[in-house]
Amino acid sequence: MKPHFDRIAFIGIGLIGSSLARVVRREGLAGHLVVSTRSADTLARAEELGLGDSYVADAGEAVREADLVIVSVPVGASEAVAIAIKDHLKPGAIVTDVGSTKASVIAQMAPYLPEGVHFIPGHPLAGTERSGPDAGFAELFTNRWCILTPVEGTDPDALERLSDFWRACGSNIDTMDPQHHDMVLAIVSHLPHIIAYNIVGTADDLATVTESEVIKYSASGFRDFTRLAASDPTMWRDVCLHNKDAILEMLARFSEDLASLQRAIRWGDGDKLFDLFTRTRHIRRSIIEAGQEVDVPDFGRQAAKKD
Ligand code: NAP
Repeated sequence: MKPHFDRIAFIGIGLIGSSLARVVRREGLAGHLVVSTRSADTLARAEELGLGDSYVADAGEAVREADLVIVSVPVGASEAVAIAIKDHLKPGAIVTDVGSTKASVIAQMAPYLPEGVHFIPGHPLAGTERSGPDAGFAELFTNRWCILTPVEGTDPDALERLSDFWRACGSNIDTMDPQHHDMVLAIVSHLPHIIAYNIVGTADDLATVTESEVIKYSASGFRDFTRLAASDPTMWRDVCLHNKDAILEMLARFSEDLASLQRAIRWGDGDKLFDLFTRTRHIRRSIIEAGQEVDVPDFGRQAAKKD
């Protein structure tokens, strides 16, 4: 049976929040869906798109009587949201989030949330490089992982209810320790974005290659980096600032491996290059076999993006 919440409040209604609101509506998971966001423009747009049943500017007012509160804002805004909602939460409510870093969100929110409210942080491993309420689509979470990072003493029934909710949205659920989550995400998501931002920035800085050449010849590898490097600057600034230790650890390892690759190229060590490139090719095959990518040569972008 599908989970059902009488009232769900969305705090933040960008790509992730609006995708969830759309799937909640499609699957009939809420009796009433309240939308709240920081700016009047985004709130008005959410209303035009019909993402909720009611729209309020004030986050505290939005969470009143809500059984499930879903915080979908940049991770650096988590503490301010916790302060805004803390005095208005209904006893027994589940408060969750979708932030890309977990230890920091817990540190920012947990101290403010009252006893009797179930705080269960989460992170859907699904997204695109787009932002805002227009960018969302109900299929975003289909067959994607959602990682929940319950804190000590989490009520198992509340955890099961939230897990059922995500399953009804199409996700597969895993639970993880928050620090472990942050380390895993540093390598599978944060580092690739930082590398992409860096390489696109380097190309932009190159005085010898004109911008028109970069754009004209971007059908090769560069284009795939530009997609990642087009991701939301606020979100990624916050991810870097709020998963600093894990990202620095992964960057250190990356730099060592890059130096080794550099040496292999300098000394003409073709065997080493061939071995590495063979090993990495298998990783892509494993991802396709795990159903997390489609086997088309455009990196599945056409399948992932829906207008
Ligand atoms: P988004 O499309 O840019 O939407 C952000 C939402 O947060 C908007 O409603 C925005 O409100 C609000 N917001 C922005 N700054 C705020 C602040 N300082 N205080 C309060 N509200 C603020 O972002 P998103 O992609 O949905 O990301 C939301 C969360 O999901 C982030 O924590 C991100 O790490 C996580 N996440 C993102 C992805 C992805 O691929 N994008 C994937 C998984 C998880 P206004 O428009 O009204 O200002």
